[in-house]
Amino acid sequence: MSELNNENAVLIIGGGHSGVSAALEITEAVDKKVYIVEKKSYIGGRVLQMYKYFPKLCPPFCGFEINTKRIKSSTEGNINFLVSSSVEEITKSKEGSGYKLKIKQKPQYINDNCTVCGECAKVCPEERPNDFNYGMDNTKAIFMPAISSFPLKYSVDDKYCKFSACKKCEEACRYSAINLEAKESIIELKVSDIIFATGWKPYEVEKLENLGYGKYKNVITNVKMERLAAENGPTGGKILRPSDGKEVKNVAFIQCAGSRNENHLPYCSAICCMASLKQAMYLREKNPESSPVIFYIDLRTPGRYENFLNKAQSDEKIKFNKGIVGKISEDHETGDLLLDVEDMLSGKKNKVRVEMVVLASGMTSNIKDDIKEIKIDEDIKIDIDENGFIFNDNFNEGIFSAGVARFPLDVYMSGQSAASAALSVIQHNAKL
Ligand code: SF4
Ligand code: SF4
Repeated sequence: MSELNNENAVLIIGGGHSGVSAALEITEAVDKKVYIVEKKSYIGGRVLQMYKYFPKLCPPFCGFEINTKRIKSSTEGNINFLVSSSVEEITKSKEGSGYKLKIKQKPQYINDNCTVCGECAKVCPEERPNDFNYGMDNTKAIFMPAISSFPLKYSVDDKYCKFSACKKCEEACRYSAINLEAKESIIELKVSDIIFATGWKPYEVEKLENLGYGKYKNVITNVKMERLAAENGPTGGKILRPSDGKEVKNVAFIQCAGSRNENHLPYCSAICCMASLKQAMYLREKNPESSPVIFYIDLRTPGRYENFLNKAQSDEKIKFNKGIVGKISEDHETGDLLLDVEDMLSGKKNKVRVEMVVLASGMTSNIKDDIKEIKIDEDIKIDIDENGFIFNDNFNEGIFSAGVARFPLDVYMSGQSAASAALSVIQHNAKL
């Protein structure tokens, strides 16, 4: 067990865009140590899995590179990352304010000598599903975990590695960067404040049985569509459907897949309309012959995003259909999908044939599940509402939240909520 003795530090749980932004805002404003605890072996979160993100439709690694430069240059080591790590225990400090934490870090099989040369992966005989690409392709058991990984090094998936029965990667590595004997460690930390920036996951759309996700290969989710469009994704940026690799032209986007539905997610996920508009435009850019159709109940494009809707609507090849898709079935011979649609304006029922369906899956906050895994003192109050979002920060106790731990947000708004959490930490510390 090792102890990092920084009584006045800040713990940020989650190293996605919100967590990293909050860390930067704090350390660039005050001289304070911040520890980011991230379950994955890299920071950056789900934004890195986007092809482009709002408001400027930049590729994610541009913004992320700026953040990593800020981390390296301006904080003098005040930001510390504990990757492949999870918080095990949070207790109130017996000596005045603040918290004592127990953090578990998985074995660090790869050290900082790694040059990402890739020689280890060439000799590795084992494969694993590539979670960065939502399982749409495989990597070796030793792999580069993300585009622009930070820390920049390979990772080993211990569910698939054969360890001492193999060790081919250790032999191939010329930089002594691999130690397959590495052990898990427990780290103790004392902090004054905690920010929950635990992020989100897509709603499990297989629960919408009528829409056929998990049953028909050509029904995919919006997060998978981001990876299909990305040049560094499983298809090299060509939007090819999973069943036969055909370049698709007729694609249906189905809005509110889970959201605004009392049986699934009773709230609006806020970003999915914008995501589908953006993805319909990806399709049009990449294949001028394409004709996407968006099935929606209401299109929600707040504020300046209204301009984006206008741009999409000015493209005659993008069709908008205010209608509910009641059922999807498959034409087994062609792999095409047949949609039973109720047109909400005419009341008519139509059958629509498309080559691929993209479900605009809703956002579910991770916070509820994540805190179940942590042993937390009973008198530490974390206010979570019935939808699984933190509805109230606890200023006096130094407990704050950022990003989708609070409510569904896009990248830009997540950055703003992170700045707000950072300011709260600074104000709380000024009062201590
Ligand atoms: Fe190269 Fe070694 Fe890093 Fe593998 S672990 S990428 S062989 S430096
Ligand atoms: Fe791959 Fe594991 Fe063998 Fe290394 S020891 S080559 S990661 S299976």
